[in-house]
Amino acid sequence: MRVRARVEGTVQGVGFRPYVYRLASELGCSGHVLNDARGVVVEVEADTKSVERFLARLPAEAPPLAHIERVAAEPVPVTGETGFAIRASPPGGEPSVAVTADTATCAECLEELFDPADRRHRYPFVNCTNCGPRFTIVRGVPYDRPLTTMAGFTMCPACAAEYENPLDRRFHAQPNACPECGPRARLVGSDAEDAVAAAASALRDGAILAVKGVGGYHLACRADDEAAVAALRARKHREDKPFALMAPTVTAARTLVELGATEEALLVARERPIVLARRRAEAAVAAAVAPRAPELGVMLPYSPLHHLLLADVGVPLVLTSGNVSDEPIAYRDDEAQERLAGIADGFLVHDRPIQTRTDDSVVRAVGGRPLMLRRSRGCVPGSIRLPVAARRHVLACGAELKSTFCLAKGERAWVGHHIGDLQNFETLRAFTEGIARFETLFAVAPEVVAHDLHPEYLSTKVALERGGVELIGVQHHHAHLAACLAEHGEAGPAVGAVYDGTGYGSDGTVWGGELLSGDLHGFERVGSLHPVRMPGGEAAIRQPWRMACAWLLAAGTATPAALAAAVDAERRDRVTELARTGLASPVTSSVGRLFDAVASLCGVRHEVNYEGQAAIELEAVCDPAEDGAYPMGGELDARPTIAAIVDDLRRGTPVPAVAARFHNALADATADALVRLGAEPIVLSGGVFANRRLLARTRALLERAGLRMLVPERLPPGDGGISYGQAAVAAARGS
Ligand SMILES: [Zn+2]
Ligand SMILES: [Zn+2]
Repeated sequence: MRVRARVEGTVQGVGFRPYVYRLASELGCSGHVLNDARGVVVEVEADTKSVERFLARLPAEAPPLAHIERVAAEPVPVTGETGFAIRASPPGGEPSVAVTADTATCAECLEELFDPADRRHRYPFVNCTNCGPRFTIVRGVPYDRPLTTMAGFTMCPACAAEYENPLDRRFHAQPNACPECGPRARLVGSDAEDAVAAAASALRDGAILAVKGVGGYHLACRADDEAAVAALRARKHREDKPFALMAPTVTAARTLVELGATEEALLVARERPIVLARRRAEAAVAAAVAPRAPELGVMLPYSPLHHLLLADVGVPLVLTSGNVSDEPIAYRDDEAQERLAGIADGFLVHDRPIQTRTDDSVVRAVGGRPLMLRRSRGCVPGSIRLPVAARRHVLACGAELKSTFCLAKGERAWVGHHIGDLQNFETLRAFTEGIARFETLFAVAPEVVAHDLHPEYLSTKVALERGGVELIGVQHHHAHLAACLAEHGEAGPAVGAVYDGTGYGSDGTVWGGELLSGDLHGFERVGSLHPVRMPGGEAAIRQPWRMACAWLLAAGTATPAALAAAVDAERRDRVTELARTGLASPVTSSVGRLFDAVASLCGVRHEVNYEGQAAIELEAVCDPAEDGAYPMGGELDARPTIAAIVDDLRRGTPVPAVAARFHNALADATADALVRLGAEPIVLSGGVFANRRLLARTRALLERAGLRMLVPERLPPGDGGISYGQAAVAAARGS
């Protein structure tokens, strides 16, 4: 008999066709296999038993990077074809195959990399079908070498033989290369034969180097070199934000941070994210790596170039994004050399172009579960299912900070790479170019465009500028709720606590401490943090002491010493007056702003240099053993909380105890309120829930009450998850 099987999912560029070839050959089937615009098509011909065996084993034994979503098989007339062939892709057609994410170097390639007898010994671009660059080098579909940034390199006879041999690990490995024919690394201004070894030697001696990686440039220096790290921080104009580290091995990572089972699994996963974990007291890192932070962000090498560099240097490196302050990470060579010239002492570069800038992903483990904080390199563009299929093609434009976009059709949604804060021309261009690239890669022509309700977000403006589409505005916190439901495959109804910094409310005020009841379709606001004024609007986000003044006014309490010492009475009076009159001071129910206020009252931070800094530092100072809690109550009225905090501070209670009692109060009040709503499942989301202490305690209380909970895992609880939530809402509303 003869059968034609269509295989859909992530089946291109992952060694699927050679796998089919080997399986068919083993079972004595004749026929052929080819990639087309929808996936892989196989025709096999043999006796009935062999064909059935083939169809049973086909999905079960697929290669590691393949992800099969569907196999549809139908009988076709026998042709008498002999032998089995891998055929060329037909041109044209509608491409919708999944382009895979960039994947960490596999064990077999690593062995070759460090084997002096191998022809790819110390070759920084060794890769195979099971590993290597993908998304960052893809220019179009189908995924074939001419449509990648490897197009300019012609394979030598040895590489071409591997590429053409169905039994070889590199059969149709599009980035296949070797020292003879592939990309080369170069230490700019040096004629060293081994550029990586020369770079490692400079790093060992204390240099700061710009290093071109997979998704962009990093800035690197020894993590244990006080002078180098301090210089890097000064030249980058980055005052406080922690630097990420790359450790040569898991063993080396363990000397830096405490790794539980979940952290270790995340660290070695093929996505190779930055894992945030509790730093060890004896960790050999310079003070300037992560000032005041109880955690360090650590990752392992994920490209052969990184493996060589780290092996040669032998100690952990700072490996932070190659940019100045808040600009996007540099990824084009000319641009990088211009922008990073004042920071780096040298450049370790290579001649394989990066098509799409992709930052490192960042993840943390809370209660044994992953909590994604930035989803990008290694994860993107993997698709995430929608619980309600989109009838028309959807573009969702996300929010403003930590921006992402999302495209969807049918049951599949593709969330784009982390773009950054959509507040300047550079990020806006990355945003619109990213959307255009994804539209091509996944053949999505949006007929419905979802956006935030905030009229001033650039993402909203991008949505409104698209003509000939149906526009769907989705409330910010509803999008958070929907994103969490949808990633867990649920459509609601549910209740949720959604806490973040700011989001445009349905009533035009600034929301951010919301109890919502709803489903993917719609929602009702069933509770919220007692509102106060944000004195001076945006200025209050940068200056937590302004929020402290607003909360002191609301609570009718006098100013504690730490705040009085930091800000003079005249400025405080002026700001308090703004809060009293409401002049240029919008009303907010934001929990993020409440954290700001408490951080300032405690003297932890009065002004911030980056989003969320005050809350992060307040969490960091918490006394882990403190179990007491201030009054707040299930109606989320923080006025008695503020009064109790000021009382405690006046009595000289240590700040670590005060900070912990505040966290506990918010967790207790949140759990109380949700229990009283009496519905399941319960969603906890919004950027504030990246706070480990708040999330862990709230979760424990709800678990004790026997309630089912959903917390974001694959997408960030912060605004990076908004676009996916908007897409889920648009799909559910019948789009
Ligand atoms: Zn490999
Ligand atoms: Zn070659």
